[in-house]
This record gives sequence, C-alpha cells and structure tokens, in this order.
Amino acid sequence: MFTLTYEFKLKPTSSQVAVFENWLEQCRRVYNYALAERKDWFKSRSCQINACSLRSEYIIPAEKPRPTYASQCKGLTQARATIPALFAVQVHVLQQTLKRLEQAFVSMWEQNHGFPRFKKTGTMRSFVFPQMGINPIKDGAIKLPKIGWVKFRQSREIPDGATLKQVRIVRRASGYYAMLTLQWDVRVPDVMPHGEAIGIDVGISHFAAVSNGKLFPNPRPFRKLERKLKLLQRSVSRKLLRSNNRKKAQVRVSKFHEQIANTRKNYYWLLAHNLCDWAGMIFVEDLSLKGLARGFLGKHCLDAGWGQFFQVLEQCCLKRGVFFLRVDSKKTSQICPNCLTQTGKKELSERVHSCLHCGYTTDRDVAAAQVVLVRGLAAVGHTVKMLSEGKAVALPVTKESSCL
Ligand SMILES: [Zn+2]
Repeated sequence: MFTLTYEFKLKPTSSQVAVFENWLEQCRRVYNYALAERKDWFKSRSCQINACSLRSEYIIPAEKPRPTYASQCKGLTQARATIPALFAVQVHVLQQTLKRLEQAFVSMWEQNHGFPRFKKTGTMRSFVFPQMGINPIKDGAIKLPKIGWVKFRQSREIPDGATLKQVRIVRRASGYYAMLTLQWDVRVPDVMPHGEAIGIDVGISHFAAVSNGKLFPNPRPFRKLERKLKLLQRSVSRKLLRSNNRKKAQVRVSKFHEQIANTRKNYYWLLAHNLCDWAGMIFVEDLSLKGLARGFLGKHCLDAGWGQFFQVLEQCCLKRGVFFLRVDSKKTSQICPNCLTQTGKKELSERVHSCLHCGYTTDRDVAAAQVVLVRGLAAVGHTVKMLSEGKAVALPVTKESSCL
C-alpha cells in the first residue's frame, strides 16, 4: 500500500471562493478557541501551589482533565448546535483542525517545537476533507462535501486503481489548489539495499555534500531571487499604511514568495534525480535528532530547506527503486570516516578534515557524508572499508561496525 499526493489548481466561481474564505475563517476561530482552552489549562497549572501568579489567570479546578482532541471534539459538537456559522462548515473539516492543533502540541512535546500560537486573520491557509463521497472526480471537476462541484485544471491524469483518501484545499497567492492524497492497495515490494551506496550530509556552507566527494553549493538563483524579494518588500514598506497600493505591493511579494518556493522545490527534484542516477542506496542524516542537537538557530535552518529536500529525495527514491534510509546524525563531523576514531569538535571555519590517527584528509563536509555512509551501511548489515578516494566498499559485518 502506498500513497502519492497530486496537486491541481482549482477554478472556483466567485461564490465558491467566498465559501472557501468563510470556511478558512471558521477553522481559524475553532483553532484559536481550542488553543485558548488548552493554554488556559496549562497556565492554571504552571503556577506553584504556594505562590500566586503576578498576572491574572483563570482558575481551573484541579480535577478538570487536560483538554484533549476527544474532549474538544465533544465541545465542538455542542458549539455547532448553537452557532449557525459553525454548522455551515462540514464537521470533519473542523475536527481535522482540532487534530492539527493536537499535532502541534505533540511536536512541541516530542520534537522540542515551540508552544503553538494563535493564528491571525488570514493566516489559516488550508483545510482538509478527510473523507470523500463516491466518484468525487468527473470531467475536470471535483465534488467537495457540502460545497459541491468545483472545477479544476486537470494537468495530469489520475491513474486507475487509486482511491482518493483525502483532499486538502490550500490557498496560495496565485489561487486555490486541491491536494489529492491517492492510495493504492497494492503491495509494493520493499526495496532491498543494492548497488553503489552514497551518504549525504547537509550543512550551512554547502547545500549538500556527497560521500563520493561531490559538493552541491547553495544554488545561486536563490540568492538572485532573494535580492529581488528584498526590493519588493522595500516597495511595500514605502507605501502608505492601509492603502490600496500597499495591498497590491503585498500581493506581489506573496506571489514572489510562491515563485521562490516553486523554484526551490524544482531544484530539489533535479538534485534528487541526479543522486538516484548514481546510487542504489542513499543514506541521509535524521534531522529530527540533529535539530535537537544543534540548538535554536540550527533547528530553524534545518527546518527550512533540508527537511523538505529529504522528503523529496525519499519520494524520488521510492519512484526510482532506490533504497533510502535515515541514520543517526550525532557527531558526524567529529568522527574520522577512515579509521572511525573521534577527532574532536571542529570549528565552523575549519574546512578540512585531517585525521591525526590515520592521516586521512578530505573536505570536512565530505567526511561527514562518509560517516553517514558508514553508519548507513552498518545499519543494513554491511561494514565498510573506506578508500582514500572516498569510494565505499561493502564488506561482511564484523565486530567493529557495531560500535558506531
Ligand atoms: Zn582517521
């Protein structure tokens, strides 16, 4: 069983746009209400028992349980009975909004993300239909529950044998899009580790370094685009506050943001296909662990681009039949890939890895990528002997590989 997401641009009528806007707003309100409920509960518990909070907080009885997804869904049902605006929105869509809030709390607890924030007007950009009716797609139109048939630009065929699992409606600067999650109930044979292996390290100075010695720089076009973005943003700040011209300039900025995002994603796909051309197995760092290790700034850098790149790479590997694995990313820059001794922490300015133990010398990022490769090969049951050109040779498992 596997899933793919297809994205289509919707062609809604103006009344349908009004409905989308209204639904997004209702979702935002539900989200904010539910967040306030959770936040009040946490605040009422955060004060020590013998001290009084300096700011006034709601006092919530001690026996009241923490608001959960289930309890908030119950509250939603009651609210829908009395508020007609909420009743106009499909209940599953609103429940998905609550689930999204729950997810935000889970990633706070588990991945060290920040406390979820309230959403300002217009910042809720998507909602989800978790279930669709029977035969929801016909002749370039999709039937959305409670909204009806909405036309879309069918830029590609939807393959036979797929079932439509969910639909996410997304608002972007250039219009509305539907992201269709399609599922196939066929068993896909797991890709076995085979062929040439490469490890990939991502970093600040290079976009990606590959264990065979190739370095991918941060692509230049982005810098050019970012310069233009700055100009556009400046033109916004020069316009009179709350004027129509300012609004127009703001729209230009948002459209340009979208263009940058598309360019970036395109580059990720090109790079991913390029990597798949070389290799039968690809190992990357597990960023969810690295994010914690690198502290505040590092985490945001990582979240921005590389996480998405790895997602694209994973999908590309699935399509191309390449084995893909995320491995532990701890201390990749502190180990010598040749003799596996700890070489100690490197300063960011130290660009070359030079091992005192065995004399192995290579680029610092390439060395990190080679450590990723060694770990990956160990994880799939190979051990590795590194040659000085950086080519990895898979050998049968020995005791040494278990220490990694
Ligand atoms: Zn060494």
